[in-house]
Amino acid sequence: MKDCIFCQIALKEIPSEIAYEDDQVIAFKDIQPLAPVHLLVIPKCHLCSINDVTPEYEGLIGHTFSVIRRLASEFGVSESGYRVVTNTGTDGGQIVGHLHFHLLGGQALNAKIG
Ligand code: AMP
Ligand code: ZN
Repeated sequence: MKDCIFCQIALKEIPSEIAYEDDQVIAFKDIQPLAPVHLLVIPKCHLCSINDVTPEYEGLIGHTFSVIRRLASEFGVSESGYRVVTNTGTDGGQIVGHLHFHLLGGQALNAKIG
């Protein structure tokens, strides 16, 4: 989608530190990391939030979590632990309107983040 910063990252129109990519999903480092490991894992297709995750996207979301599991292992936090966060809408603190999953780890995380 035009004017969507994460679509532009997926299309390489703006730079990012890419950690993983396939035809459906891309993962990149958060520009303002809240933990030693802070990746954003996104479906490449433009979904605004979980509110757009209708049953036809179940496979895509399942695949996205498979990628998250793999990245957690590659970034060395599988055993120490990590957190996956998805903010949704205004009250959920969502800033970027393209569905994304924060993968946070590498330190003991506070009960609440953000
Ligand atoms: P939120 O929408 O609140 O779940 O979070 C959006 C996240 O996107 C924040 O953690 C930002 O630091 C991150 N972010 C915004 N722009 C970029 C960018 N160009 N590259 C990487 N991360 C970004
Ligand atoms: Zn988008």
